[in-house]
Amino acid sequence: MAKLDFMAEELKRLRDVGLYNSIRTIASPQGAWLKIEGKDVLNLCSNNYLGLADHPRLIEAAKEILDEYGVGPGAVRSIAGTMIIHRELEKLLAEFKQVEDTLGLQSGFVANQAVIPAIGADAIFTDELNHASIIDGVRLTKAQRYIYKHNDVEDLAAKLEEGAQHERKLIITDGVFSMDGDIAPLDEIAKIAQEYNAILMVDDAHGEGVLGDHGRGIADYFKLHNGEVDIEIGTLSKAMGVVGGYVAGTRLLKEYLEQKARPFLFSSAVTVPDVAASIAAVRILMADDSLVKKLWDNAKYFQKAMRDLGFDTGKTQTPITPIMIGDAKKSSEFSKKLFQEDIFAMSIGYPTVPKGAARIRVMLSAAHSKEDLDFALSKFEKVGKELSLI
Ligand SMILES: *Cc1c(COP(=O)(O)O)cnc(C)c1O
Repeated sequence: MAKLDFMAEELKRLRDVGLYNSIRTIASPQGAWLKIEGKDVLNLCSNNYLGLADHPRLIEAAKEILDEYGVGPGAVRSIAGTMIIHRELEKLLAEFKQVEDTLGLQSGFVANQAVIPAIGADAIFTDELNHASIIDGVRLTKAQRYIYKHNDVEDLAAKLEEGAQHERKLIITDGVFSMDGDIAPLDEIAKIAQEYNAILMVDDAHGEGVLGDHGRGIADYFKLHNGEVDIEIGTLSKAMGVVGGYVAGTRLLKEYLEQKARPFLFSSAVTVPDVAASIAAVRILMADDSLVKKLWDNAKYFQKAMRDLGFDTGKTQTPITPIMIGDAKKSSEFSKKLFQEDIFAMSIGYPTVPKGAARIRVMLSAAHSKEDLDFALSKFEKVGKELSLI
């Protein structure tokens, strides 16, 4: 057997069980409609919640800064120095998140790899449905792991009781869970963290631009601005429409991470136009919450209509809209048929979601018009009936 034959075998297995992921190639900017394989399809997949990915102000900001500062950051910030514009974004994000300071990193994924090992916790308490980047961050530590039941504060308290002897305790949760769209009970978790003197960290990737006043995120949604949350992780790749990640918290936290976080010390920063576009995105959000409101109007409208049609939208509390199917093959067939009807909505199966809980995940955006949503609803109804799901 050739050395890499196992790869072909695994790919065949994935195809057989309906879990093979075919990646579409897009020949247009991100937006409500995409050009894929020569046709226009309605985009229900992206995390471009506010439609900022191709916003004229972001494009303009990225173009202008290129003439002033060029493209690349040269090397890692701790060695080659850091550019003024990266610092400007960090200051602006701190203002937006209402924290003392933030530290920019290459992505949300990387931000978790940066922070979790750097904390050096003796015990980590982590929600069973936390994002892969948190799971991998935890894997980089030698901490004792306590995995608590999803959004279950009683189980969290029981696990903290069990691990009470540990000195440095870290609780980590997603803010909004990306596969179900439900929200962590962060106010209750904060109380328990206080009680057990545990550091509290929340990953706000799907909360930013979505929850709270002007989309400030989950801490603002629960009005936790008085140090209840020690560490927030943010991303610039979802609602902000660009790419990059950051950690938000105290000045002390930032200073510590600049000395200790390995992705900060050993990997270069995002490029200059990324930063300029991100600054433009945050400024738009701070000045005007109309896109956030439109996002929620769209989400409520679409979700109600889907439920009225007889679809199961799970336990979502946000614009993330799972259409629960169950069987991975059926879910994948649903997605393919939708694509034939000019709807781009992906099927998500194991291991991203539990076995037997495959679903189509619809991501609503402020970029969608009401006509777009009505178009989607008519196609979901048609294909849902064809597959006897409704
Ligand atoms: C998407 C996501 C990330 C990764 O963010 P990127 O900036 O795309 O790397 C991290 N955490 C959570 C919870 C996410 O949903």
